Amino acid sequence: MKIALYPGTFDPITVGHLDIIKRGAKLADKMIVAISGNPGPAKKPLFTLEERVTMARAEIDKLNIPIEIEVTGFDDLLMHYAEKRDATMILRGLRALSDFDYEFQMTGMNHHLNPNIETVFLMSQDQYQFISSRFVKEIARLGGDVSKFVPEDIKNALHQKFTE
Ligand code: ADP
Repeated sequence: MKIALYPGTFDPITVGHLDIIKRGAKLADKMIVAISGNPGPAKKPLFTLEERVTMARAEIDKLNIPIEIEVTGFDDLLMHYAEKRDATMILRGLRALSDFDYEFQMTGMNHHLNPNIETVFLMSQDQYQFISSRFVKEIARLGGDVSKFVPEDIKNALHQKFTE
């Protein structure tokens, strides 16, 4: 049984993440989308863990992906969580240049922590290359249109957050 663990902050989930989930599902028998409840002091999420899980769950359900996809929060060290869940691979998305250095270091360290779990990268498709949760939040905060970057319900959730 190939179990792919796709970890991230997903604050909020974007069409870029959803594309990686759709494509990654072709490589696995089951996927666990693991949403970090503890992304560290440098990242203070806009949405609560519960909100991020609920939003991701709802958007993934609309895609009719033919394998089981679990969406859950996690607080542990990624490799400990991967072992606990019997993951056979870590799935990550890779955008041009911006992600490489960070992903390179993380993969190297994770490989030392557990050499049996491979990290698999899917390159972002052209049309999603420039999409990041960070800039989506920034654009939404300043009243810009994010409908090309996130599904309708996420756009509305962002709007609500910033008008609260
Ligand atoms: P993290 O805090 O781990 O960076 P993110 O939610 O920002 O969490 O991203 C989770 C994963 O999805 C990372 O591997 C990231 O590179 C990837 N990703 C994010 N946005 C895109 C995108 N537009 N296209 C492809 N992969 C993406």
